Amino acid sequence: MERWQRILSESITDPDQLACHLPIDPEPLRPVVARYPLRITRYYLSLIRERDDPVWRQCIPDPLELEPDALSLDPLNEKRLSPVPGLIHRYPDRVVLMVSSACPTFCRFCTRKNRLDRKGNARFFDSMEAAYEYIERRPVIRDVILSGGDPLLLTDDGLENILLRLQAIPHLEMIRLNTRIPVTLPERITQQLCLMLKRYHPLYINTHINHPMEITPSSMEACAVLADAGIPLGNQTVLLKGVNDDPEVMKQLMQKLLTLRIRPYYIHQMDLVKGTGHFRTSVQQGLRIMAALRGHTSGLATPSYVIDLPKGKGKVAVLPDEVKRQGETLFLRNYMGEIIAYPDGKEETEG
Ligand SMILES: *Cc1c(COP(=O)(O)O)cnc(C)c1O
Ligand code: SF4
Repeated sequence: MERWQRILSESITDPDQLACHLPIDPEPLRPVVARYPLRITRYYLSLIRERDDPVWRQCIPDPLELEPDALSLDPLNEKRLSPVPGLIHRYPDRVVLMVSSACPTFCRFCTRKNRLDRKGNARFFDSMEAAYEYIERRPVIRDVILSGGDPLLLTDDGLENILLRLQAIPHLEMIRLNTRIPVTLPERITQQLCLMLKRYHPLYINTHINHPMEITPSSMEACAVLADAGIPLGNQTVLLKGVNDDPEVMKQLMQKLLTLRIRPYYIHQMDLVKGTGHFRTSVQQGLRIMAALRGHTSGLATPSYVIDLPKGKGKVAVLPDEVKRQGETLFLRNYMGEIIAYPDGKEETEG
């Protein structure tokens, strides 16, 4: 067993264990955990400073998860967009491969919380063969995103088998890997892992960091090792009520990410997922946060704010309502709130 596997096996999975570490009554959490399992690494738990702080809210089960809501088990329609097990094909040229169903820490707001079978430790499904063949037969697919669960919960060998197989598909131009492990189980990012990963370039990694409290010397070191392996790092943040729905917090997070050589990629509006309603914010608040970033900090610290439309209609980027048109003049609002006239270029008209 590798060191990180031992650390993972010491994670907290039971409300009684939790009550040994936090001033919390385990009783009301039992039905929540029966429906949506609990797992928190000791490392991630150690980041909690007080009740209901941003780390607490992301990982500690809450009876609100069982409130009846009109939200969906599968808001993005991933089931219908899945032609073979574990593969989601929504956009023509890129697919998501759900290679793992496990995570070191189960986020209470997880988009796939109703879909992932959390019992196993890593593999999402038994055989990837059908998924490989699906990609092989479709030359239009040029980008594969490894997701889950967390792909980095696979062993180095398990992950390398997937990468090897994908690398052999001539029309694939790149591989992406989405992971939250640098902030939930930083010990997993070993030199050995990175030596392996760097043989599969162009490989991009998107981390999932939601709050400056998640950035510690350990997670910084993990990200540094990845960046040193020449892996371009991006980050996806989910906009979460009571966690990061605040312009100052979000600005601090984006700026800190850049110091870790991570380029903020997306801020996601919460998906309409059953059991996560208490994390939802208004789009208006998201737009306020975007307005507080654009122009007020480095452009590199300004990601796109995206809504993943229900029923698998795709992601759209939303912008503050900054444009008005009068004839051929655009009136644009800058970061100071000034309205500036801008003469538009001519549109090509087809004859
Ligand atoms: C988000 C997503 C992608 C990738 O979208 P990008 O905007 O290219 O990052 C691809 N497939 C599915 C199903 C997705 O949800
Ligand atoms: S790490 Fe990602 S997949 Fe895993 S529980 Fe959190 S949001 Fe869900």
